[in-house]
Amino acid sequence: MDDLFLKIIDKEIPANIIFEDEDILAFEDINPQAPTHILIIPKKHIAKLSDADISDQKLLGHMLIKANEIAANLKLDNTFRLVINNGANAGQSVFHLHMHLLSGRSFSWPPG
Ligand code: AMP
Repeated sequence: MDDLFLKIIDKEIPANIIFEDEDILAFEDINPQAPTHILIIPKKHIAKLSDADISDQKLLGHMLIKANEIAANLKLDNTFRLVINNGANAGQSVFHLHMHLLSGRSFSWPPG
């Protein structure tokens, strides 16, 4: 399986890791789109959000709660955007589920 983020989880590819526990990893995006741009990923291989099922409920909730914690630790002033691109036409380029945590600038709506 060609999964770039599994290589980051396995420390085969370096990343600036912000947070890690037994279920998830958070690291800085290599091509930041905002002053703070962190990717939060499950260690379990789930290619995209729509592949998750009810058995992943706790894991997905854990990712959201940890996003809150990371934002608080980085003092993001409760101002951030979470993005999950699902599928190539929605902008997904890496097929290992990831949540973008973006902060440090203003964001427009609708997103591009
Ligand atoms: P997406 O387009 O939603 O699939 O997001 C994939 C993200 O992974 C992009 O924002 C990339 O900049 C980021 N990315 C790709 N390779 C790496 C890497 N080696 N380390 C950190 N971030 C990466």
